[in-house]
Amino acid sequence: MAKIIRAQRAKKTQVRSLPKKAAKAKAKLKPKLKAKLKAKPQAKSARPARKSRAPQPKPWTPEEVREVFERFRKANPEPRGELEHLNPFTLLVAVVLSAQATDAGVNRATRELFKVADTPQKMLELGEEKLRDYIKTIGLYRNKARNVIALSQKLIADFGGEVPRTRAEIESLPGAGRKTANVVLNMAYGEHTMAVDTHVFRVGNRTGLAPGKTPLEVELGLEKIIPSEFMLHAHHWLILHGRYTCLARKPRCEVCLINDLCRWPEKTV
Ligand code: SF4
Repeated sequence: MAKIIRAQRAKKTQVRSLPKKAAKAKAKLKPKLKAKLKAKPQAKSARPARKSRAPQPKPWTPEEVREVFERFRKANPEPRGELEHLNPFTLLVAVVLSAQATDAGVNRATRELFKVADTPQKMLELGEEKLRDYIKTIGLYRNKARNVIALSQKLIADFGGEVPRTRAEIESLPGAGRKTANVVLNMAYGEHTMAVDTHVFRVGNRTGLAPGKTPLEVELGLEKIIPSEFMLHAHHWLILHGRYTCLARKPRCEVCLINDLCRWPEKTV
């Protein structure tokens, strides 16, 4: 009997102790499992990303790029910028005033202004208050008037009253950024620069000529593919194309000179 009782006790202890062992084993396993679970997403992300199935536009060949600019040149051999100016200084001032404003609006104001102030010295003599009166129809005119006076002072103090000829020097002037420098270098000094405004940015991206998320990317992309012989006027051809044909909301693809070459999937021809 005693034997039977001992055997039963032993069995009970075994039964009771099993969960403890199991718990221990589980505890031992847990960190391993945790590690496995942690490792899982890493393994997933380590897989190579699937390629987008959207068809990628065919890259432009050098012959096609040349063809585009030959067509632009044939249609408009001497394209002109639309900002009115009399010399490099008035061009610089007009470009500074044109930020977030239309060329036509700037021209209306500067026609009278440049009659009295077409040099840095005359601009300083006019003074900020009177300058504001001339340009008050242009957006952000207070800030722009302050910049024009400050840049006139700097031109006299640091550059002998002349508009400098390097990008870095122009960019050092109050109110002048990379686009301003590119316009001035191109239009006043004939440099092969590419100023990217909203129109050039749109055309570069839509056509696929120079896709880019920033104006600088588009600028460098265009500079890379446009043959040198077209670079003097390329900026104006692209601006005019964006302003009058490849319009932001309703591009006029049916009359577009390059509609057969354009890579935009949404073109309407
Ligand atoms: S085809 Fe249309 S989208 Fe392409 S460049 Fe011409 S106007 Fe712009």
